[in-house]
Amino acid sequence: MTILQDTPQQVRVIGEARLLAGLDHGRANLARHLWAHGEQPQLSRDAYTVLAEETGLRGRGGAGFPVALKLADLPQRGIEAVVVNGSESEPVSRKDRLLLTLAPHLVLDGATGLAHALGASKVLIAVHDATAAASLRAAVQERTTDENELRYRDDGLDIQIADTPGRFVAGEARAVLSILDGGPAVPPGRRTLPTRQGLRGRPTFLSNVETFAQLALLARLSSRQFAATGVRTEPGTQLLTIAGAVQRPGVLETPTGIPLDTVLQYAGADAGPVLLGGYHGRWLPRTDGVTLARPQVSAGIVLALGSATCPLGEVHRVAQWLADQSAGQCGPCLFGLGALVDDFSRLLQGDAAGWHDAQRHLGLVPGRGACAHPDGSARFLASALEVFAEDVRLHLTGGSCGRAVQGVLPVPGGGW
Ligand code: SF4
Repeated sequence: MTILQDTPQQVRVIGEARLLAGLDHGRANLARHLWAHGEQPQLSRDAYTVLAEETGLRGRGGAGFPVALKLADLPQRGIEAVVVNGSESEPVSRKDRLLLTLAPHLVLDGATGLAHALGASKVLIAVHDATAAASLRAAVQERTTDENELRYRDDGLDIQIADTPGRFVAGEARAVLSILDGGPAVPPGRRTLPTRQGLRGRPTFLSNVETFAQLALLARLSSRQFAATGVRTEPGTQLLTIAGAVQRPGVLETPTGIPLDTVLQYAGADAGPVLLGGYHGRWLPRTDGVTLARPQVSAGIVLALGSATCPLGEVHRVAQWLADQSAGQCGPCLFGLGALVDDFSRLLQGDAAGWHDAQRHLGLVPGRGACAHPDGSARFLASALEVFAEDVRLHLTGGSCGRAVQGVLPVPGGGW
């Protein structure tokens, strides 16, 4: 039976609360965290690897890389650090900052537990949200008071919280490592794996906030208990950010594999198209029969557009923002995304050449940048042209679909 719970902080759960357990009254301090989750057991590297393998756990950021493979790629010795990527630069996403703000000890347990298992001496947490950073700093202090020192002395583990800029590409894993090393907030021009060449050029385990919270749960539960809910291929729960034309926006914990229509109904979504995965994700032509699990719901974003706004105008605003986020160091990204903004602009005004040029540019941009930004942006724009084919026709025949742009798709600094 589905159990629905609401809390005053708009923390919502369908099914069993795991990541969001104990948050009914707001932030979980150390005492409340221990009451909700119990002590964090110390596990070996092999134990983490087996648990991650048995449960098919994947990173809960955009890329969704299997955690067991990432662990296997690390050398046996000489691991520099465990890095928690809390940049959450996708404008729609709120799940990671919610975890850092309300459940900081769960994230810290996951990161410090793994650092011990890997023999890493540092845990670095990159955050760009001021409230989340303050909550984390308070949590680190709580763990080092006299009263808790014995339990959390962390054997000399150096825990640092670093503020990062909010730009989209600054949240990319290698951009985060560059920032932590004192470099620019952009991905380096070459693709390297953090497990081989991470912080200070040394092997590093980096993943996003929710991944570490999941590891903290996994360390406490057997893989069998962990897999008691969700889909067989990647069981457990997941955090979703629900946004757009919905009556109940916010962060929702659900079993993996939940039907999208259940989530939309629960959120009170208006009828209309849905975007899964944020601004590097895809528009869906229909929602029935769709279930929410990786890779479809990468980054955990479900955005309902509703039917009162101009879809192509909304997409054009986001395209402009995506183009502005290019770090400007790869030609196909810098010029290709800019050209696509112009193509969409002309299409909106009824110029068929804009549509043809967009199709051409969408074929040229992917796979040619040093990071996934152009690929993800092209995916988002290509799916818009496909799903909003009828709106394309209306714009090309009459110059408009008859609806004004409402700003349902949030764009930082977009004035909505
Ligand atoms: S692909 Fe774009 S965002 Fe990525 S590194 Fe190159 S210029 Fe920067």
